[in-house]
Amino acid sequence: MRGIELTVKCPKCDAEIDHLHYFNYELMKADVSIQKVIHNDKVMNYLDYDSWDNLCVSKDDPEYCCPECDHILFTSEAQAEAFLRGQLIYIILA
Ligand SMILES: [Zn+2]
Repeated sequence: MRGIELTVKCPKCDAEIDHLHYFNYELMKADVSIQKVIHNDKVMNYLDYDSWDNLCVSKDDPEYCCPECDHILFTSEAQAEAFLRGQLIYIILA
């Protein structure tokens, strides 16, 4: 199911945006093993990462940024959601 995309205006650069960029340091877990491939009669080894898992532990607050100007608009999911719903009026004080 595809929802209706709402657009809101970035309070910093005034661009019409329908999403934010999310950045966070999250603890990840994966299985790492050596994979062998034969390429031009040579055996090559490389590390293969598989079964990625997000352990839901983060280092700092997440950052929700404008995809156009990269300004950090929010550091909480609740605020980012309210903004994308058009329910949060954002005032830049600086
Ligand atoms: Zn912007």
